[in-house]
Amino acid sequence: MDKTIDKAIEVLKKSNHTTAFTGAGISVESGIPPFRGPEGLWSKYDPQVLDIDYFHNHPSESWKVIKEIFYDFFAGAAPNPAHKALAVMEKNGLLSAIITQNIDNLHQKAGSKKVIEYHGNSQKLICPHCQKQFTPDETDLNNLPPLCPDDRNVLKPDFVFFGEPIPGTAHLLSSEESQNAEVFLLIGTTGEVMPAAMIPGFAKDNGATIIEINPDESHYTNQITDIFLKGKAGEILSELLRKLLTD
Ligand code: NAD
Repeated sequence: MDKTIDKAIEVLKKSNHTTAFTGAGISVESGIPPFRGPEGLWSKYDPQVLDIDYFHNHPSESWKVIKEIFYDFFAGAAPNPAHKALAVMEKNGLLSAIITQNIDNLHQKAGSKKVIEYHGNSQKLICPHCQKQFTPDETDLNNLPPLCPDDRNVLKPDFVFFGEPIPGTAHLLSSEESQNAEVFLLIGTTGEVMPAAMIPGFAKDNGATIIEINPDESHYTNQITDIFLKGKAGEILSELLRKLLTD
């Protein structure tokens, strides 16, 4: 492992443009489970609450579960050493941007500035009719579903539901960012969620070195990964950062 970490350090030090691509795994050490697997959110909740048609047809039922997961549970989560290490890397000119599939706002809470949110953000609510945005604090989540104060339409969390397209700007910015990368850090993602799963391929096609951090192999590991750092994101990124700043 030491040799592999050293190889990663060598590549990162030479890089003029490093991009991170993060998935649910980076937030596991903050206490937010991924969707899949025995401890995943879908072992407890029915994923149909995040289906856009179900949401429109059953807003109260959807909102009851959405509030529990994304506003009661996520609200208490804090950035872990992995989020913090990426923020320090950016501050030190070692990271250009983060493309995240996560909707938990933890990269921004950790201090990262350039964060491309591929699937939106749970900490914003939007009125699908007038497009006005609200923070959770500006809405009454004790009376579900929450309504737009102006036109009384049901507010929707501003993240991508199943059956919804990816916001065009997020896809465009992510594609550009990954094509500019010399080194691409792939952190805590299985590569199962499309079209997000295609983004790392754009970096690889453009010649980027792919460094993957995950306790388990993913769909990427034997396909595009050049350096596989097996382990938890918090531990590996802390070690990488320490070596990058001191060696
Ligand atoms: P996933 O749930 O499919 O897979 C999680 C990955 O993280 C796995 O490969 C797992 O081995 C790895 N992992 C687990 N613990 C880890 C750790 N400590 N450090 C590093 N890696 C670890 O996640 P996905 O591929 O991101 O796809 C799920 C989708 O669900 C995403 O699109 C995301 O938007 C959404 N999601 C987001 C959150 C969040 O915002 N925190 C939580 C759950 C799901």
